[in-house]
Amino acid sequence: MPLVVPRPNLTWWEKLYLPAFWKGFLVTARHFVRMLFGRRDRRVVLEYPEQKRVLKKGYRGAPTLVRDQDGREKCVSCQLCEFICPPRAIKIWPEEIPANDLHAKVEKRPLRFEIDMLRCIYCQLCEEVCPEMAIFLRDDYSLTGTSRAELLHDKEKLLEMGGVMQDGILKWNKK
Ligand code: SF4
Ligand code: SF4
Repeated sequence: MPLVVPRPNLTWWEKLYLPAFWKGFLVTARHFVRMLFGRRDRRVVLEYPEQKRVLKKGYRGAPTLVRDQDGREKCVSCQLCEFICPPRAIKIWPEEIPANDLHAKVEKRPLRFEIDMLRCIYCQLCEEVCPEMAIFLRDDYSLTGTSRAELLHDKEKLLEMGGVMQDGILKWNKK
């Protein structure tokens, strides 16, 4: 059933359009004068991308994977983040860690790990649910690409973006 939105009845003053035009123009003029003579911190124009916004703590940017200080991928491929992700942006292909590997007792690691940034809604549930503190939303908000494929972040890209996160617990270290 289509929703019919009634056309508003404008007064003759509103029909002139000029008052609305001047109102908008005055806002622009006020900002212009402030920019010329006002304090630097009151300027409203940001010369992006040379200048970037200072983000508040807790900003939810792109999700990334991290390594610990010894270079180990922290993800143990438990797939909780894949299960919890509301738009199903995460796909994980787990693999078994060979018995002769230094971290064999971890048992699993991701063979492939993909996050589709065209689906991600930056909800942070993946970070909250991760028992290994292996996935983090970083303050990266400038994600661009020239194709859909570029915005499908694979494991290498996610680890490169995430970098190193200190692990104070070191529960997987060899005793
Ligand atoms: S931030 Fe939310 S939508 Fe994006 S990958 Fe994590 S759980 Fe999925
Ligand atoms: S990132 Fe965390 S929640 Fe997701 S599979 Fe790896 S260990 Fe599990």
